[in-house]
Amino acid sequence: MRIPWVRRSPGLAVDLGTANTVVFRRGDGVVLFEPSVVAVDERTGRVHAVGDEARRMLGRTPATITASRPLRHGVISDFETTEQMLRHFIRKAGAGRLRGDVMVCVPSGLTQVERTAVVDATVAAGARAARLIDEPLAAAIGAGLPVGEAQGSLVVDIGGGTSEMAVTALGGMVVSTSLRVGGYDFDEAIVRSLQQHQQLLVGQEQAEAVKIEVGSTLAGAIDETELADIAGRDLTSGLLRRTSISAGQVREAIARPLQQVVEALRELLERTPEELSADLATRGVALVGGGSLLRGFDGLLERETGLPVERDRDPLTTVARGAGAALHR
Ligand code: ADP
Ligand code: MG
Repeated sequence: MRIPWVRRSPGLAVDLGTANTVVFRRGDGVVLFEPSVVAVDERTGRVHAVGDEARRMLGRTPATITASRPLRHGVISDFETTEQMLRHFIRKAGAGRLRGDVMVCVPSGLTQVERTAVVDATVAAGARAARLIDEPLAAAIGAGLPVGEAQGSLVVDIGGGTSEMAVTALGGMVVSTSLRVGGYDFDEAIVRSLQQHQQLLVGQEQAEAVKIEVGSTLAGAIDETELADIAGRDLTSGLLRRTSISAGQVREAIARPLQQVVEALRELLERTPEELSADLATRGVALVGGGSLLRGFDGLLERETGLPVERDRDPLTTVARGAGAALHR
């Protein structure tokens, strides 16, 4: 027999990312990891599929169903869909049944109205209470930084649509930056390079696969002659054609968006109060987010800032784990 009043309130933490939504359940760890994609039936306006199932539909849906990512660059471009997606994931992870507290980790670019709407959607999805936490703070906690202490910690989170960076101290963010450049921009840069040099038009998902296969940020991080196969449409003939792209070409293609990340970090360091800068020199930078999985990302940031950089052991779930740890606070 279950004795409900003896059970601890379950408690969920949701990382609502532009690329992926990650749900952490107290006591169980990460219980859900799915792309932030929703497929909507245009005729009825109803949500047809969410997450993994909806992602399989991206770009190959019948005319009446559109699959899209409701979060763009960390801001919610389509609120109603985001709300439904959030509801779906929370229910799937079990909060609807369990009626626990839910901590939602939101991109720092959200307006007050959007924040209130996220809280409302979470409660409507079955949560007993909803709290919000800023993404960089959750990232810092997840990376094991001493955010509650008087010393400064620096976290860099490379997501799909944004790169969030913050210096934390005494449980808050002292300085922060949200740059609208992330993993998707690396994919787009690869698409453009293939257009320009091979006269080939490829989809963004394919460019992402190439990035994961042979992408790198620094010369020497991978054998530059290594090739990745790719298929697309020939720009002149319009026919399907196969070709390959080298690791070197990929590195050159993504150099520009990477440079923007580096510049944003340098600028953040300039704005960091001097007392905290000294802490950063010894403690270094915690690197998280799926985009940071690019080969040599830590080395690039080390070279460009002079600070030691350590990538989290599982950078795709750092934020959710950090928000989960914050549930106890
Ligand atoms: P968000 O917080 O915006 O949802 P994530 O932290 O989930 O983003 O990271 C998603 C990004 O990570 C995508 O752009 C994806 O292409 C990228 N990514 C995932 N795995 C790798 C990898 N092995 N190498 C390079 N990039 C990766
Ligand atoms: Mg994220």
